[in-house]
Order: sequence, then structure tokens, then C-alpha cells
Amino acid sequence: MADLLTVVELRKEFHVRRENSFRREPFIAVDGVSFAVPAGGALAVVGESGSGKSTCARVIVGLERATSGAVTVEGHDWSNGHVGRSERLRRGRLVQMVFQDPYLSLDRRQTVRACLSECLTLHFDLDRAEREARVGSLLQQVGLNERQADARPGALSGGQRQRVAIARALAAEPKLLILDEAVAALDVSIQAQVLNLLMAIRKQSGIAFLFISHDLAVVRQVCDEVIVMHRGRVVERGDVESVLLQPEQPYTQRLIASMPGPGWTPRRRARELESP
Ligand code: ADP
Ligand code: MG
Repeated sequence: MADLLTVVELRKEFHVRRENSFRREPFIAVDGVSFAVPAGGALAVVGESGSGKSTCARVIVGLERATSGAVTVEGHDWSNGHVGRSERLRRGRLVQMVFQDPYLSLDRRQTVRACLSECLTLHFDLDRAEREARVGSLLQQVGLNERQADARPGALSGGQRQRVAIARALAAEPKLLILDEAVAALDVSIQAQVLNLLMAIRKQSGIAFLFISHDLAVVRQVCDEVIVMHRGRVVERGDVESVLLQPEQPYTQRLIASMPGPGWTPRRRARELESP
């Protein structure tokens, strides 16, 4: 299968100010990362907080600019500088992103229906009836009912809001969905429902996923392949089952051993992850 997304030797430096200092020093958040997502495939990016996962995603969609390296989508270079409105829209038809907290990205004054309608208008030339039909099928696809469709984000639960964010991303009919900790803020039972929804969407639509998560248990359900990031680098890669069941690298072994279980505390987890 041809690769839909390729990321080659991606590097991102930030210039950060040290405490008690006015000097800015380079900080390398992403350090020579390469990976590919085939059309219809699902790649997980795992690693503890601060390992550079979101920075990779933000560079791919153009929210950050790479220091060096290349991002290509369907063979087109996306790592070049300024992007105008029509090119941004064209890119939006290929790649959409879903974030951890949909509340920040949803307009509080807009009903779900209006939000989806607006996205469709942005990307497609539809008449009113066609648009309403498409909104209906998006709502159905993500499991939202008529009452929820007429609600504003504030009246919805976290899980329902995340369904709205997923529907909004799907409205553009992208070929790749980047999910950055998309289920991380949800309770375990709601998380399971949203993961089931994502798997159903993958099966129905053949859309590819780049699924970012600090939680290895959730990626196992949804993804085929995984890369493990640590301090901006890829430390291990392979198919999900073999990496999770037989991790080769000590860092991955510690990451898996530190997954929540009896006796788990954030401090112990942090200590285990940092020990050499
Ligand atoms: P992750 O998503 O894996 O938790 P991030 O990609 O968000 O990690 O961050 C990687 C590192 O880069 C972190 O140390 C973070 O503090 C730093 N970083 C991210 N964005 C910026 C920024 N805009 N300015 C300075 N440092 C940043
Ligand atoms: Mg992140």
C-alpha cells in the first residue's frame, strides 16, 4: 500500500528561556523522527508526557513549523513555509485533527448541527437539502441523536463533545485523522465507547489514523503499528502486538511496566521512567 503520510528526519527546536535568565536556549522537542502511515493504516505514537508526540502532530498539520525534515502527504511536500487559505482548505480535506479537549475547539454558541453545517459549507458546494442529509449521516455515524444535535457544547457530556469533534473532522472527508490524546480525558467506560466508535469508523470509511496516546492499552485496540517516543526520538517501532507483548528496548519495557495497575502512583511511574 502506498504511504499516505511520510515524516522524514523531522526535527523541531524551541527557544526557551531558562529560569532567572533572559537568554533563550535551544530545546530539541523532536529529534530526527521518521515514520509513515499507509493509506487506510493506523499508526500509534506512544510515549510519556513531553516526549514530543504533539509537536510532531502540530508540525504535520502546519500549526508549527519544522526546524528541518520533511512531511509529505500523498507525495506532496507539506513542510514548506507559508500556506494560503485555499491550500489550507485543500490540506484540510486530506488531514484532520482531533484534540484531547474538544471544549477548547468547539464554539460554545453554536449547536452541533450548526457546527457540522458550517464545516460542510467550508469544504463542499452543497445545496441545503444535501447539506442537511450529510449532517444527519454524520450525526448517525458518531452516534448522536436529534436532541443532542440541537444542543450546544455546554449541554453535552465529555464523551458526546468528543463525538462532535470527531464528526466535525469527518465532515471534511479526510484520508487521515490525527487523534492527539483524543480519549485521554474521558472516563474508562466512555473511553471504551469512543474507541469502539473509532474502530467502526476505520472499518466503514477506510480512513487512516495517526493515534497519539500516552496510554498503551488504548492504542492496542485501534492500531496496527506503533512507534515509541522518548525525549524527542523514536526508540522502538513495530506492530502493536509484538511491541506491547515483547518490547525490546528497556524504555518501552519500563513504559509498559508502569501502566496503571495495583500500587501505581504518578510519582513511582515518573521515577521508573527516568531511571537509566
Ligand atoms: P507530548 O505531546 O509528548 O506530551 P509535546 O510535543 O507537547 O510532548 O512537548 C515536547 C516538549 O517540547 C516538551 O518538553 C514541551 O515542554 C516542549 N514544547 C512544546 N511546545 C513548546 C513551545 N511552543 N515552546 C517551548 N517548548 C515547547
Ligand atoms: Mg501531547
